[in-house]
Amino acid sequence: MYNIKRVDKPTTLITDSIQRIDMRDTAYGLAARGEYGAAVQKGVQKSLPGKYPLSAAQKDVLDHLARVQANATASQMAPIPQDPAVLTHHIKAVGYFLKADVMGACKVPQSAYYSHDKQGNPIECRYENAIVIVMRKEWSTMRASQGSDWIGDPISFQAYAHLALVTETLANYIRRLGWEASPQYGPSFVNKYQVLLPPLLLAAGIGEVSRAGIILNPFLGLAFKAAAVLTDMPIVPDKPIDFGLQNFCQQCKICAENCPSKAIPTGDKVMYNGYETWKLDVRRCASFNFTNRNGTMCNRCVKSCPWSQPTTWQHNLVRALVMRSRWIHPLAIRSARALKLGNAHPKDKWWFDMEYVGDEIKMRT
Ligand code: SF4
Repeated sequence: MYNIKRVDKPTTLITDSIQRIDMRDTAYGLAARGEYGAAVQKGVQKSLPGKYPLSAAQKDVLDHLARVQANATASQMAPIPQDPAVLTHHIKAVGYFLKADVMGACKVPQSAYYSHDKQGNPIECRYENAIVIVMRKEWSTMRASQGSDWIGDPISFQAYAHLALVTETLANYIRRLGWEASPQYGPSFVNKYQVLLPPLLLAAGIGEVSRAGIILNPFLGLAFKAAAVLTDMPIVPDKPIDFGLQNFCQQCKICAENCPSKAIPTGDKVMYNGYETWKLDVRRCASFNFTNRNGTMCNRCVKSCPWSQPTTWQHNLVRALVMRSRWIHPLAIRSARALKLGNAHPKDKWWFDMEYVGDEIKMRT
């Protein structure tokens, strides 16, 4: 990540006319209160305890972590250097020590704060600084999967659970050093968020806006989950990155072609709530996910994206060429399409297809 080109502003336009979002109006919130129809609402209720035994087990542990009581902020600052550059370097190093895959730091745009929490209480824009933590999704399982089958939730929860552990530990440590810290991690039912993460990921140079409507990192593609610690510890913010993704995604439509709900647009970027972006149809995406009869949450865009491929020397060589010259983009996209990256690899499948029906586990074909 240190060698990726840094720029002063993100590669997509961000205006100053952004409305803060009410947490009750996210796709999850709208689906849960029936705005996407009764079938989708029922699907949310069914997904909540965990449709699948492994993700139900992961959720139990995650729920436990989310109930950790915050330790008090130490009354005295630790006798360590107070230089923001030293502190930023140190906190990122702690994150890598705890096995984060990518760490970043940024100022928190006020518009990134939700306006209200799930209970309707206003959210205060309390902290100016954020440490961003990124964890990869487990690639070999995703490669084996068809992308919208039963292992979707466990793939995401593996990253969420690991993030919860790292984020809570980091926040606890920062408080012990004498600064305030607020951990921000999901998934949404855990309710640990005060901020939307995509603006932080852009500001901290973790990735660029992609056609799939989520942030794409040059080495993990779409195959990651993120979390953050908001803090008053002084930091040196990272700069946004530019690795040529806007031109690449404009030509490549592989995720849109593979999306089972046709939620990913094939056209141009639009302005949405002050952000320039390819606008995902969140209603279609959420509706498919919550009514999927043949699996849990869908990862097909993640799996089929050429940037999500692992960091082997062959893939890294292509990455380097694509980042160096936009003339390579059409050839790289044609090659990725020919490789049919969205295909499953059933011989590597290790999980069982099963689902909770009430308290009973039923096999699914
Ligand atoms: Fe962009 Fe192609 Fe990845 Fe979609 S599949 S996010 S268009 S690079």
